[in-house]
Amino acid sequence: MDFVPTMGGLHEGHARLISRAVAGCAEQGSVLVSVYINPLQFGEGEDFDCYPRSLEADCLLAQRSGAAALWCPDDHQIYPEGVASGWRLQAPSTLQSGLCGPSRPGHFDGVCTVVSRLLALVQPRQLWLGEKDWQQLVILRRLVTDLGLPVRVRGFATVREPDGLAASSRNRYLISSERCSASSIQVALRGAATELQCGRSGQNDVLKSLSNQLENAGLEVEYVEVVDPSTLQPPASEQSLRLLAIAVRCGSTRLIDHIFVMTRSPIVAIDGPAGAGKSTVTRAFAERMGLLYLDTGAMYRAVTLWVQEHAADPASAEAVETLLDGLEVDLSPLRNGVQTVCINGRDVTEAIRDPRVTGSVSKVAAHACVRALLTRQQQRLGEQGGLVAEGRDIGTAVFPDAELKVFLTATPAERARRRARDLQSRGHSVPSLSELENQIVERDRLDSTRAIAPLVQAEDAMELITDGKSIEAVIDALEDLFRERVAEEVWPIPER
Ligand code: C5P
Repeated sequence: MDFVPTMGGLHEGHARLISRAVAGCAEQGSVLVSVYINPLQFGEGEDFDCYPRSLEADCLLAQRSGAAALWCPDDHQIYPEGVASGWRLQAPSTLQSGLCGPSRPGHFDGVCTVVSRLLALVQPRQLWLGEKDWQQLVILRRLVTDLGLPVRVRGFATVREPDGLAASSRNRYLISSERCSASSIQVALRGAATELQCGRSGQNDVLKSLSNQLENAGLEVEYVEVVDPSTLQPPASEQSLRLLAIAVRCGSTRLIDHIFVMTRSPIVAIDGPAGAGKSTVTRAFAERMGLLYLDTGAMYRAVTLWVQEHAADPASAEAVETLLDGLEVDLSPLRNGVQTVCINGRDVTEAIRDPRVTGSVSKVAAHACVRALLTRQQQRLGEQGGLVAEGRDIGTAVFPDAELKVFLTATPAERARRRARDLQSRGHSVPSLSELENQIVERDRLDSTRAIAPLVQAEDAMELITDGKSIEAVIDALEDLFRERVAEEVWPIPER
């Protein structure tokens, strides 16, 4: 079962979230919506008493959106020991030291407490949450990861009213003049994001002028902040993907909103040793997320084939360098899961997978002249972003500022088994598993000990071990890591 927890007061944002969950779990069950106004996440003087309670309308909306059931637990079901005297979870301080944390002490602790209890009772396959409450989403993703809860967290892009105001249950508190002020939030955020993107003015100046603009629209500013979307800490650089978030008071109503600031589309770097499953999962991941796919290993293989065709010594830097002059390596976009590789316009997609190429590629790839040529070409292809590249040095040398870096690996024994299956399917003769394992270990050694851009795990890369995992599970894990960093509203799932 998939699960959409809410506090009721359902609106179009909930409707779209529920519909998306229904579409997302098509053959694997149904969607449960809960409505529970959690007293623990309201502070003193906040709107617990007047929070919209509209159960009948909520039922209709949930049903119209395809939910199988709507569940309204009472306080006793959620807090058997009593609301004030039961267990409490505490969200990590680093995740609540900024944004809404300081002005809503205890709020995120209350959210974590109620969601962990709801998850224990419902035991869903997937938990669906809106990206509108980005800080809450980050904290709940961490709750699930750090406590190892057996559920997949899925975020859903913020739904907006026609004038850009983020859909929220609290919007119904707004009288018409306030509604008019509130509609200036998105306009102001968009302007500030454009300013930050072009980098003409410093961040502090942009934030100050955003604050003024909001105040001039009749809103009382609680905070305007720029943070790294996944850590909620100050961003690493002005080039990285940033979250510009605000909270304001519009009359007595507290509203939050945000916008993502990016200087180019996202880049994903997937590195790892041979046979860890990189190509298969990266290709499928690229297709799922609508990213361009860049198989950099294929480029090194193409150069190696070219060197072999010219009967040059793959270990000789001089011999290889003289051959690079007349060489053009091109990769096509993916078509039906296949990326065509060409040398000077000639299709070599199959030829570069020959075991003789595999046997020499690490020697060719170690030459400085080869690395310089291909790294430049790869960086040119990635200038606009919107791509996932796989190889050995993507996160360290080619795209050190990639939004997501993954080190995909598996034990040598598992990689040898996969290699054997791959060779067999391509009609090559298959050496024994121990011989394959030795070849793999030797290629790892050459790749990770070479002087230039060796195969190493980038410091900020996430390690993903693929032993015993299905391809689908690895792709899901990649998607989840991507979504922790890149919101759906920044990089939506392509229409199928
Ligand atoms: O991934 P694949 O097996 O096709 O890569 C072939 C070889 O190309 C690797 O063993 C490595 O020597 C080289 N390579 C590299 N840097 C990359 C990608 C591949 O050195 N970014």
